[in-house]
Amino acid sequence: MRESVIATIGLGANLGDAPATVRAAIAAIAALPQTALVRASRLYSSAPVDSSGPDYVNAVVQVGTGLSAPALLAQLQNIETAAGRERPYRNAPRTLDLDVLLYGDAQISSPPLTVPHPRMWQRAFVLRPLAEIAPALVSPAALTAVQDQMLHALEN
Ligand code: ATP
Ligand code: CA
Ligand code: CA
Repeated sequence: MRESVIATIGLGANLGDAPATVRAAIAAIAALPQTALVRASRLYSSAPVDSSGPDYVNAVVQVGTGLSAPALLAQLQNIETAAGRERPYRNAPRTLDLDVLLYGDAQISSPPLTVPHPRMWQRAFVLRPLAEIAPALVSPAALTAVQDQMLHALEN
């Protein structure tokens, strides 16, 4: 196995049984080849931003993985597809969305993949679960910048 990198993945769902979909996705991520789950946040719920439909359920996980960043993205897209993800239009409601937020400290800018995820710092539903599992990665100022976005943990 190649040397493993800590990758941070954001999960979101807002159709069907979204909490069950997110929990199943965390299990599927943990079962990926050359990959082990390191930490998972609680599940959070938020109203849609730039999107529509029912409230979102979100979580953030960290894995140690020997997969390259593009290979990890491809595996995550397989999990999305298996959950019934369709892309009828931009920001459409979705059964499952899996984004690569961080891949170690890599900066990647190639057509299929931009890491760090360019919009993560604008999103409370990313930053608050991330701060729960990796507080060193999220500054107090970053949390303050998204404090007006409503978000609550679904569990203790
Ligand atoms: P957003 O990126 O604003 O969260 P989204 O998740 O709804 O929006 P998608 O339709 O899921 O957008 O993804 C569109 C494309 O974004 C994917 O096909 C993928 O190639 C690309 N992409 C670029 N960087 C990343 C990344 N870090 N994680 C996941 N997908 C990425
Ligand atoms: Ca997304
Ligand atoms: Ca996505």
